[in-house]
Amino acid sequence: MKLLIVEDDTALSKSIADYLIIEGHLCEIAENLKQALFKTADNTYDCIILDIGLPDGSGFEVIRELKANRLTSGVLILSARNSLNDKLHGLNIGADDYLTKPFHLAELSARINSIYRRHNLEGQNEISFNEIRVNTEGKQAWVNNILLNLTRKEYELLVFFIINAKRIITKESIVEHLWGDEVILTDSFDFVYTHVKNLRKKIMTVGGKNYIKSIYGFGYKFSDD
Ligand code: CA
Repeated sequence: MKLLIVEDDTALSKSIADYLIIEGHLCEIAENLKQALFKTADNTYDCIILDIGLPDGSGFEVIRELKANRLTSGVLILSARNSLNDKLHGLNIGADDYLTKPFHLAELSARINSIYRRHNLEGQNEISFNEIRVNTEGKQAWVNNILLNLTRKEYELLVFFIINAKRIITKESIVEHLWGDEVILTDSFDFVYTHVKNLRKKIMTVGGKNYIKSIYGFGYKFSDD
């Protein structure tokens, strides 16, 4: 993927770039709004990692310019802690996702991949992982062609796992993606465990493999490794 990191904290942008380059991505960096607008006018990026508080203006300007020019880059907002308004505003004007500072680089990488797959799933309504098949239009899933009887949350969890397959996913990111901000301030995410346990059981009952690996103290990984 070709990525643009817009961030005035140069130590942070460098550590993000170092990490994502090792993962095989191409990374460019813009240190302020002016550089970001200059680069996005001339280049196409798969995803833009966008800080909002820039020294010469707001990162929201970058999203507005992209939309005005009908560019389809994915946008991941890096927001300061507790700035719910920034997150909501960013999503309203067209950002794909947000991540609150400080964050794990593995989490950032997973989010970027998720945005990429979402953008690239357009026009397709089936995703699959070995014996598991999901129809995203009918919101149904099958294991070995046997239809699963999933709740809405279990279905969403399964899709989230498949599009982030082989990556570590934190419990926090599962909560943010499936439940949104309303429960993010609670300190116990035990309810995630219950949903994961039920989903795993439903998959295995009809002969599916156990792909949902628990990563102690961190979250989960959906993988056939
Ligand atoms: Ca900043």
